[in-house]
Order: sequence, then C-alpha cells, then structure tokens
Amino acid sequence: MKLPLLAVAATRVCVAATLGALSCLPAVAQPRIDYSTLEIKTTDLGSGVYLLGWQGGDSLILVGDDGVLLVDTSVAPMGDKIKAAIAKVTDKPINLIINTHAHADHFGANEALANGRATIVAHDKLRERMAKGFTAFNQAIPPAPAAALPTVTYTDAMTLHFDGETVQLFHPPNAHTDSDTLVHFQRANVIHASGTIGGDGGYPFFDMSSGGSLAGTIVAEDKMLSLADDKTRIVADEGDPAGTETLRASRDMLVTLRARVQRLIDEGKSEDEAVAAKPTKDFDAQWVRQGNFVTGDTMTRLAYQSLKGVRPQTTP
Ligand SMILES: [Zn+2]
Repeated sequence: MKLPLLAVAATRVCVAATLGALSCLPAVAQPRIDYSTLEIKTTDLGSGVYLLGWQGGDSLILVGDDGVLLVDTSVAPMGDKIKAAIAKVTDKPINLIINTHAHADHFGANEALANGRATIVAHDKLRERMAKGFTAFNQAIPPAPAAALPTVTYTDAMTLHFDGETVQLFHPPNAHTDSDTLVHFQRANVIHASGTIGGDGGYPFFDMSSGGSLAGTIVAEDKMLSLADDKTRIVADEGDPAGTETLRASRDMLVTLRARVQRLIDEGKSEDEAVAAKPTKDFDAQWVRQGNFVTGDTMTRLAYQSLKGVRPQTTP
C-alpha cells in the first residue's frame, strides 16, 4: 500500500508506534487524498487478466465466460471507479472477489462491489480482523458489515478454477501483514504480491503493527520466485508490474540487509546506532523512491525491530 492513501483524515501519520521520530510524518508531507481526481489505468496483461492501477492497492481482474474475478476492491471511495473500469472491459458481473490483506485499500469497497452476489475469498485472519475491527497505521478500522466480510476463508493454500484459469492462493505467514494472500494466475503468468514487494521497484514495507515481519517478507518473496519464470509479471500495490529480476533483487537485498542488521544487533548496537551505521547505504540509490516514506533509515529501523521481535503498540 501507499501510505497517503490510508492517511485520509490523519493530522499526523504514524507508520508504526515503535518506529520513533521517523515513523510519524507531518500531515503536510502526507496530503489528504482527493479520490475524485484519481484515474484508474487499465493494463491488459493477457489471458483475460487486467491490472486496474490507481496508485494505491492496485486491483487485478480476470474476465471470461464465468464473469469477473476481482483481486482487491480498493478503498470505499474508489469503488464506483473500479466498477466503471471493469464495465469498460466487460458487461459480465463480478462473481468472485479475493482480498489480499488487511489494509483498507484492499477491501474497502467490498460491500459495494460484491453487491450481495459475489463470493469473497480471503485468509482466515483477514476475515477475523474485518469482523472484529482493528487498527492499521494508527487508524481504527471499524468492524465490517456482514455484506463486506469474506465468506470463504482458508489457512495455508487454496486453488480456484475460474474460466479455464487456475488461480492459486498462498498464505505466507507474517509477511507484509499477518493476513496476506499471494495470488498466482498460472495461465496468465501473473502474481499479485499482496504488498510483499515494493511499489515502483522501491523498498518493500512490512507492517509490524499488522503482524508483518522481515523474515516473513523474505519467505513470501522466495515463494513467488519458486512460482516465477523470466516472463512472470508481479503486481505490487502501485506502479507497473515488476519482473522476476526485480523480485530476485528485492529478495537478495532483504537477505543481505537482514544479515547486516543482525550483526549490528549481535554486536550490542542500539537501534539508533544501527541506523547510524547505514547498513542500507549501497542499496538506497536503487530502492528509495521519491515521495515514499520507506527510506534507508526507515528500512533499518524496521529490520532492527523485526529481528529484535519488538511488538508495535498498535497490534490489536
Ligand atoms: Zn498493504
């Protein structure tokens, strides 16, 4: 996800309670989003799969005789735009929805887009969070109405067969969040990464306040590498899909960062001392994206806290 899209009404935005000064960005750096100005860019990925990109929790659709399978419904104010973008591709109804994880830009328009007819599929933990309500990015997400809740949930993996496509769902534990689903379209050779790779080729973010972790993100990226070949498109939350080379580079960078930060921890360094050691300095030119809150120092803090097992105070 892209932080500003979840920061609609915040006066200050905190990534996670334990991230310290770097985590809480002044509202001026995270402007209120005017969804009316956002456009959805539709990209044909082949074999009936389309990317609906809006610089937030990007969606995928699979279109065929069975209707529409939709991966992620976006935030509630974007629901009509998602509907309109689908209508430009097909007049078939949405029959199946997959929510990839517990950030509001991935399930916020469930009720409107399911419209009382589509089956909603997600990991067990996502339904649990949505039913009870939870906190993400210091924003309280109230309990979802029954019509928005996933009705089919799974624990480790699930396979769906839709319009001749085999859609595999995999749950990497404690990766971007604790409720992630990697969605693999076999025929189309497309994977939705559920936020486990960075948007626009940037640093990936793991949301420890929602049960994410560095180790789990590496496992998720390894899982996607095991599914990918040199033509696979990997969908992040924003930007063009990544290729397998970018995914492999991300995985290798995270493994190296983990080793460097673990060494600093083993040497008894504090979090601030670890940041001062600049373990990301040869990565930042490649992985820091303009306007993204995940800087090299933020990555170091996230890695340090994840490896130390710090539990953010916002964990419900
Ligand atoms: Zn996310």
